[in-house]
Formats: sequence, structure tokens, C-alpha cells
Amino acid sequence: MQFIPSADLTPFNTFGIAARAEFMARFHSADDLRTALNTPELQGKPRLVLGGGSNILFTRDFPGVVLLNEIPGIRVVHEDDTNVFVKAGAGVVWHQFVLHTVEKGWSGIENMSLIPGKVGAGPMQNIGAYGVEIKDVFHSLEAMRISDGEVITFDREACAFGYRESFFKREGRDRFVIVSVTFRLKKAADVVNTSYGSIQEELKRAGITHPTIKDVSNAVIAIRRSKLPEPFGARQRR
Ligand SMILES: Cc1cc2nc3c(=O)[nH]c(=O)nc-3n(C[C@H](O)[C@H](O)[C@H](O)COP(=O)(O)OP(=O)(O)OC[C@H]3O[C@@H](n4cnc5c(N)ncnc54)[C@H](O)[C@@H]3O)c2cc1C
Repeated sequence: MQFIPSADLTPFNTFGIAARAEFMARFHSADDLRTALNTPELQGKPRLVLGGGSNILFTRDFPGVVLLNEIPGIRVVHEDDTNVFVKAGAGVVWHQFVLHTVEKGWSGIENMSLIPGKVGAGPMQNIGAYGVEIKDVFHSLEAMRISDGEVITFDREACAFGYRESFFKREGRDRFVIVSVTFRLKKAADVVNTSYGSIQEELKRAGITHPTIKDVSNAVIAIRRSKLPEPFGARQRR
């Protein structure tokens, strides 16, 4: 765990706003996070969990501790003939995770290519794009209860997903830190969702009639890049 007083938040928020946190704790595992939560200097201070900082707008310095989620790791925890269950650390950059699954030929999240942020924030607001939401491919997540440091497993029902919301955005807000998310993906690179007109148009433009998940991911990336000018678009992929 890295503990930094008077930390510059500029590199940690997508809009590049120059704000400072009284303290920043960068954690790389659940144990690290528990240590941060028990650090005497941080007791009683306001806390803010930060992923990629793409859904946060700092309007002033933060008078407390920013907990920066950097938990890494992607691994297969279970598989059967048709599904693969993949667990990702909450600090993995979402788009890097999508690219990994596309490379492996696992379908399910390719339509959500290039959404800014990290894996851990995804279930918080049930991220979605181009006809797919996290809830469609979600299996379970692990979250640390801030009050006692216990890691609790939440299934889909317990997450109570709604449109761009979940338990963690409502009752669970400020009470839990998501540390890992497990997805149920299909072992099929040709099972695609092209229901969105703009994806169909992009595939047609590229002359692709039988798209794979890689084609769909590339189409979504092309659409999103055409909407977001560089360098702002580049900043999203950090
Ligand atoms: C240009 C742009 C395009 C976007 N496009 C889309 C889109 O297509 N679809 C979509 O759904 N969203 C989109 N978003 C929103 C954003 O990408 C998502 O909300 C994303 O999940 C934010 O991830 P983050 O890691 O940056 O979260 P942050 O901004 O760091 O945090 C967001 C919130 O989640 C909390 N949080 C973060 N990590 C955790 C954790 N591990 N445990 C508990 N709480 C946590 C934070 O405290 C904060 O309240 C877009 C945003 C931008 C700027």
C-alpha cells in the first residue's frame, strides 16, 4: 500500500482537473485496502474510492483520503462447454479487459469496448453501451465492507441492477469497495450482438458480412473515436 499526503489528483481524473487530496492510499489487493482502512491517520476522515476517475468531477480539493483502486489480475475461475467464468481485479482498466476477452475469443462484452474507467466501477452503475449492459454478463463480485474489512460475495440478485444503477449506487454507497468482478462469457467468437444500427452501418462500411466479436469491438471503437476527439479520447484509454 502506498500512502501519499497532499496527493495531486490531476493524473487520476479523466477531465484532468487540478485538485489535491489530503491523503491518497493506492491499494493493490484486498489486504492492502484493509491496511489503508485501518491506518490511524485516516480514521474518521471522509473517503472517496477512485477507479479511473472518469465519472467524477472534482470542483475543489478533497479533504480526506482518496482510495485509489489498483488491484490487478485477470484469471479464469471456471469453465464448461459453452461458458467461461473470468475474474478481474477491480483495478484493471475496463477497455484492457475487453481487449483481453476479445483476443481470447470470449464473447459478451465487446459492445462495451472503450468505455472509460476500471472494472470495479462497472457494476456500480451497471455500465452499458450499444445494446449490452454489465448485468447481462455478470456472475458475481467481491466487495469489502468498510465497517469491518470483511470481503463479501454478491450475486446478480444481491447487486439489484437497474438502468445505470445498482445496490452499490444506492444502499451500498460508501459502505463497500468492490475488489473483483467475475463475468460469465461465451466461448464463441462468432456470437455477436449487432442490433444497434450504428454498428451495422460501421460493419457495412468495412465490408464485413459475417462479423466476429473482434469485428464488433473494432466497429464500436471506430464509432466511439469518431465521436470523441483526440486527445480527450486517448485520455479515456489510460
Ligand atoms: C467520455 C466518456 C464516455 C463514457 N461512456 C460511457 C458509456 O458508454 N456507458 C457507460 O455506462 N458509462 C460511460 N461513461 C461513464 C464511465 O465510463 C463509467 O461510469 C465508468 O464505470 C467509470 O469508471 P471509473 O473507474 O472511471 O469510475 P470513477 O469515476 O473513478 O468512480 C465513479 C464512482 O464509482 C465509485 N467507485 C469506483 N470504483 C469503485 C469500487 N471499486 N468500489 C466501489 N465504488 C467504486 C466512485 O467512488 C464514484 O462514486 C463515460 C464517461 C466518459 C467520461
